[in-house]
Amino acid sequence: MRTTMPSDDPLSYQRLGERVAELRAQGICPTCHDLATGELFGVQSGILDDDRFRVALEQHPRARGHTIIIYKPHRDDFTELTPDETSALFGLATRVANALKQALGAEKVYLVTMCDGTPNHLHLQLLPRLPGEPIGSRRFVAPRGVLEDGERLATAIRAALEQGAS
Ligand SMILES: [Zn+2]
Repeated sequence: MRTTMPSDDPLSYQRLGERVAELRAQGICPTCHDLATGELFGVQSGILDDDRFRVALEQHPRARGHTIIIYKPHRDDFTELTPDETSALFGLATRVANALKQALGAEKVYLVTMCDGTPNHLHLQLLPRLPGEPIGSRRFVAPRGVLEDGERLATAIRAALEQGAS
C-alpha cells in the first residue's frame, strides 16, 4: 500500500481511496462532490476547465502525461451520452490527445473509459506512449506513480491544445 506521497498532495492515494469509499457508501458521487468542493482531487495541473469539461493530469499516473477528462454533468458512463454530448466529449479527447503527442512527443495516445462501481462518474483516461515504451494494454494497469513536474507539463499541454495541435 502506498505510503510515501508528497506532502503537498491534496490527499494521499490511500486516503483518497478511503474517502471515495466513504462517499460511495453514502450514495454520493465522488466526482460531483469534488467538482462542488475541490476536496478530493484539487485543482493541480489543470489543462482545461470550462462549464462542461475539466481536463487535468492524473495525480497518481500510470504513464507520463496520464490525463483525465471529466464531463461535468453527471453521467454514469459514456452509454448515457446524447449524440451531441458524444461529439463534444470525443472531439475534445481527440484535441487533447493530439496536444499530448505534440507536448510530450508521444507516438500514440491510448484512451480508456471504465467508470465501474456505484456511483461512478463518466471520465476518459488518456495514456500517452512515448518512443521506446512497449505497446499493449498492460499499460492500463501499470503501477501508479507520483506526478512529477506537473505544472510545467500541464502548461506545455495547454499551450499545444490552444494552438490547436493536429
Ligand atoms: Zn457525478
